Amino acid sequence: MSLWIYVDGKYVSKEEAKISVFNHGFLYGDGVFEGIRAYGGKVFKLEEHLKRLYNSAKSISLEIPLSREDLREKVLETLRKNKLKDAYIRLVVSRGEGDLGLDPRKCPHPQVIIIAHHIMMYSEELYEKGLEVIISSTRKNIPAALDPRIKSLNYLNNILAKIEANIQGASEAIMLNKDGYIAECTGDNIFIVKEGTLITPPIWVGALEGITRNVILKLAAKEGIPTKEEPFTISSLYNSEECFLTGTAAEIAPVTRIDKKIIGEGKVGKITRKLIKNFRQLTQIEGTPIY
Ligand code: PMP
Repeated sequence: MSLWIYVDGKYVSKEEAKISVFNHGFLYGDGVFEGIRAYGGKVFKLEEHLKRLYNSAKSISLEIPLSREDLREKVLETLRKNKLKDAYIRLVVSRGEGDLGLDPRKCPHPQVIIIAHHIMMYSEELYEKGLEVIISSTRKNIPAALDPRIKSLNYLNNILAKIEANIQGASEAIMLNKDGYIAECTGDNIFIVKEGTLITPPIWVGALEGITRNVILKLAAKEGIPTKEEPFTISSLYNSEECFLTGTAAEIAPVTRIDKKIIGEGKVGKITRKLIKNFRQLTQIEGTPIY
């Protein structure tokens, strides 16, 4: 059975889904995107993802050629067309086709692409044992250059950090901001536990305002776990009791080793376990129905 992909108002098979070599998303990384997840026939936090997409687009003066209502419907329709209940949805809006110069005024038609497929970030074993990660030497962009709040098609420094992780045989790379504070990972936000308090860097340190991050902050508060959004350094990270990463694709991924140092007791911590359980429950009950 073919995979149906939404490209500019039409559904085409995976084999036929192509973009122009003059597309500025391809030539310059000029565009924005979202990664969204569906669980058991419901799309998790769809409104939050759409809001972030439109905010990212506004920040780069990109007009999405569909209203939010229409785009919501297209996301749901793509899932129905592929008969999916559990899926990862990639929503991409690029500047569209232009000429070889970078001027966006030469791109009159921004392009919308929706891909709904499966994703598996890490093996079940890694979720059980915890990930081994590294701290990369590649820094986050400074907000004055490219604001990390914008979920743009420019992931090159994250990719450089990921290459560092690959070379060292680690699953993910933690990235610092220009001042040396922990910001986030290449595709996930980061949390630590210190003296029973759950801490994550504030967004202004240089992280994407992750939707999973916000869900975790709320779930922790509900459980009576104290939470703080506070900058922290490499030393605090190494000496944390627990550490985990959050993201739509990775969900909640426990970390048990950073730069070969054992974190806490070297196994998935109690607070992390509790939050994984609560997160999984929430994804089963909340969401926008597809069918
Ligand atoms: N940071 C970065 C750089 C990301 O790309 C992502 C999403 N893949 C996240 C954090 C996590 O965001 P969310 O929970 O909204 O998926």
